[in-house]
Amino acid sequence: MRIAIAGAGPTGLFAAIALARRGHDITVVDRDPGPLPDGTWARAGVMQFHHPHAFRIQVVEALSDEAPEVLAALFEAGAERATVPGPPDAPEIAVGVRCRRLVFERVLRAAAESEPGVTMLCGHAEEVLVDRGRATGLRVDGHRLDTELVLDASGRSGRLTRGMRAPAQSGDCGVAYVSRQYRLRPGAEFGPMSMPIAGVAFYPGYGVIAFPHDNGIFSALVLRASDDRAFTGMREVPAYEAVVAAVPLLAAWTDPARALPITDVLPGGRLHNTYCGQLDRDGAVPLPGLVFLGDTVCTTNPAAGRGVATSLTQVRQLLALLDEGAAADIEAATRAFDAWCTGTIKPWFDDHVDCDAGLAARWAGEDVDLSRRLPSDLIGAACEVDPSLMRVVGPYLGMQALPGSLDVVESRVREIYASGWRPPVPAGPTRDELADLVARAARREPVASA
Ligand SMILES: Cc1cc2nc3c(=O)[nH]c(=O)nc-3n(C[C@H](O)[C@H](O)[C@H](O)COP(=O)(O)OP(=O)(O)OC[C@H]3O[C@@H](n4cnc5c(N)ncnc54)[C@H](O)[C@@H]3O)c2cc1C
Repeated sequence: MRIAIAGAGPTGLFAAIALARRGHDITVVDRDPGPLPDGTWARAGVMQFHHPHAFRIQVVEALSDEAPEVLAALFEAGAERATVPGPPDAPEIAVGVRCRRLVFERVLRAAAESEPGVTMLCGHAEEVLVDRGRATGLRVDGHRLDTELVLDASGRSGRLTRGMRAPAQSGDCGVAYVSRQYRLRPGAEFGPMSMPIAGVAFYPGYGVIAFPHDNGIFSALVLRASDDRAFTGMREVPAYEAVVAAVPLLAAWTDPARALPITDVLPGGRLHNTYCGQLDRDGAVPLPGLVFLGDTVCTTNPAAGRGVATSLTQVRQLLALLDEGAAADIEAATRAFDAWCTGTIKPWFDDHVDCDAGLAARWAGEDVDLSRRLPSDLIGAACEVDPSLMRVVGPYLGMQALPGSLDVVESRVREIYASGWRPPVPAGPTRDELADLVARAARREPVASA
């Protein structure tokens, strides 16, 4: 089958390779020409590209099953396995892969470019071609690209198919990113880790995460409430450096004796949880032969690092449907895919909406709300009091079990919070102390750490 894919991000590239290996004739359209010969890549239009990414086990499994040499190439390029200890006398358990998004996508794109059956076309996909109520290809920079199937993998900012589906469910995640990349000095090691894939510390009103990547490079991320204007000045280097030096976890990672910055301070745009199924307002498939994939279906608060996992998992489900002969009735297959997304992807959206609302309330000074179901992040935190909860919480954290799997421990966790216990706040400045540092840096006053 001839297939056009709009968007050469992780979703489009992975889909292209996997579909070509099933004998399909693939053209991937993206307006981005790809990395420069020296490997640098501005990636305009994908604002998160240089922000920290962690890649979960679902991403590793997808590559391992569909294109194992891409995984090998990633490790060759400096990516590292993230693991947790296994049971006694058993090997460590892989939980993901650590590398910059730049490295991940450069390797994936190179693989797609050299894949027989994949054509990479640099251009702007202007519209989906339609004939007798079916999608029949794309118009790219004024030229027709005729195909039998069109996949929209144009990401969270894509406009190609805007208005075709029922409106997305969407809401602000309530957090904004400010990050910067650093490189370890020769012989230095990454800083303290509290999770297999990152070092994390959350405070009332802000949070910090350190993400180890490839080749001794890591990102230091400061998360603030998206409506907290006091932190907007953090995009300036002096304010960012004052903040990073003041918060113990990031101070340890970014100690100049350990590492030096290699990028500017990177502010982030607004972040949304969104879910948009395959169907239109009337519950119909808007255009048989057009399927939406990746971030065009779901985006979630990126701090949990779920986006590429949910995207590649969608691709794998579509592959499974096509393997079963979906092309014979693409409309029915699109409905089946939509039902699967509703059952398997949307719960992650719902979970983030719930957790993010709870976090925003707590950051605004409210206590844990015991009058409603506890959000999943609070259920996870309670493992500190009762480690036996990890039997249920662990598969959720690893995305091997849907958020609803936590329901069986909710009443036990409720008892823990009802007893007055709250997740401990690590040592470090308060939100007000940090905001004061940012304000002083903006006034160019000396900002010795709090
Ligand atoms: C700040 C931030 C941090 C994140 N961190 C993580 C993380 O740690 N782990 C994780 O798994 N996920 C993370 N995510 C989510 C992850 O980045 C996305 O899930 C991922 O980019 C989705 O890939 P995609 O291919 O669907 O879309 P994209 O990566 O957005 O790619 C879409 C592509 O389509 C192209 N395009 C769009 N429209 C057109 C058009 N009309 N014509 C031609 N080309 C077009 C664009 O140029 C782009 O290349 C993060 C997201 C954000 C915002």
